Amino acid sequence: LTTFTDEARIALDALSERATGLFSPSIRVGVTGLSRAGKTVFISAFVHNLIHGGRLPLFEAQKSGRIARALLEEQPDDAVPRFQYEDHIDALVNARTWPDSTRAISELRLTIEYESASGWNRMFSSGRLSVDIVDYPGEWLLDLPLLGKNYREFSHDAVELALLPVRAELSKEWRKLAAGVDPNMDADEMTARRLFESFAAYLKACKLDERALSTLPPGRFLMPGDLEGSPALTFAPLPGLGDARPRPGSLHAMMERRYEAYKTHVVKPFFREHIARLDRQIVLIDAMQALNAGPGAIADLERAVTEILACFRPGRGSLLTDLFSRRIDRILVAATKADHLHHESHDRLQAIVRRLTERSAARANLSGAEVDVLAMAAVRATREGTVKQGRETLPVIIGTPLEGETIGDEIFDGKTETAIFPGDLPEKAGSVFQQNGSGLNDQADPEIRFVRFRPPHLEKTAEGVTLSLPHIRLDRALQFLIGDRLA
Ligand code: GDP
Repeated sequence: LTTFTDEARIALDALSERATGLFSPSIRVGVTGLSRAGKTVFISAFVHNLIHGGRLPLFEAQKSGRIARALLEEQPDDAVPRFQYEDHIDALVNARTWPDSTRAISELRLTIEYESASGWNRMFSSGRLSVDIVDYPGEWLLDLPLLGKNYREFSHDAVELALLPVRAELSKEWRKLAAGVDPNMDADEMTARRLFESFAAYLKACKLDERALSTLPPGRFLMPGDLEGSPALTFAPLPGLGDARPRPGSLHAMMERRYEAYKTHVVKPFFREHIARLDRQIVLIDAMQALNAGPGAIADLERAVTEILACFRPGRGSLLTDLFSRRIDRILVAATKADHLHHESHDRLQAIVRRLTERSAARANLSGAEVDVLAMAAVRATREGTVKQGRETLPVIIGTPLEGETIGDEIFDGKTETAIFPGDLPEKAGSVFQQNGSGLNDQADPEIRFVRFRPPHLEKTAEGVTLSLPHIRLDRALQFLIGDRLA
């Protein structure tokens, strides 16, 4: 599966990192999740709250006043794009718009100067911790299983999945095109491109489908990063491949070569250079959207989380994956956007995520790393209030809905604050999951009303200092991810 050099390089990297770590301790925190899960917003809020001394009562080092300051420093990897923190904060704070989402890997180094809690630690610690935050699309992570598959197996599995009832309609065009192509024909660039485009369009259609179908590899077909248009990204599975080796010069041979190039030049370096060096990982999920779409979408989200957690499982028979999965010792699965609910429902949301994660972790056979779950809002766009309706007092959330959002007949203009009764999550976490997979209750839960809000208006203090971004339980996430390293 992997070459000797992969392992040697990872081992060497780890050694040299450990050596430099003695002088300037650092921790690498991976932030992932499928597109629109909230990665960009989370990292922006994480950094902003630390730099601006945000209200973080559950983040012990901050609460006890041991953090002297936090500052951005130059990142250690010159070849990785920098996370555009300043642009994102400008969007969130000044324009009150949501920042551009993650499209590729990026990195940011935040250094925290602190005082250790114990005298013993104070004697030995440098009082500085560099947190290297690595933002990357969850779609890329889901490429890991490809390392164990040759082109024939990949093609066979892709065709089988495309024929499943939920996908058959979406994959029809591609299947028709592919069926009309003889794998043994002479290699031809335009045919390869047409097949790739049609296959990629089908994968994208699965993402856009309101049933929110789970993500299928290759991940770069959905999130190409900077490799768009390269041969390693211009291939597609072919149906009906026999056992015979492909004829040199044939379309089959060309596709096989490109598939292998994708593995060698895209998937492996990504795992070796980035994932293998992570110490901690947060997996963000958009549980609110799934809850809004019904049990079918919840089941699908659970499948995606299972696939993602499986990537962090040690002992998948490959040294490459063993090396990296053993290094990550804490994984946090967090549902963001809890500010769409009244606080009475936050624990319910967390219970749903806990249940989903426990099932996923069990199915993915995850062991070794400590796993925790959390319902939070990296940026809190709403506040709470009550509205009297007749004799009843209803809990509501108040915020500025994004322009064009609707409830019933009402269309919002993006300027007016509005009180919305968000509805309750069910008391029993189990009731949001599909019963026996029958899909009978596959209806959107009418109890939950989901409107997207603009980022909040930040208050200024009497001295004219802008306060940090408000959040819900972001401090708990920080404590789990880096708290112990500041002890
Ligand atoms: P990414 O693709 O994972 O980087 O996702 P983003 O961080 O760009 O988030 C996608 C969208 O989700 C944003 O544009 C917001 O509309 C919404 N969102 C993300 N985090 C929050 C949050 O904490 N609160 C609220 N209200 N909305 C959020």
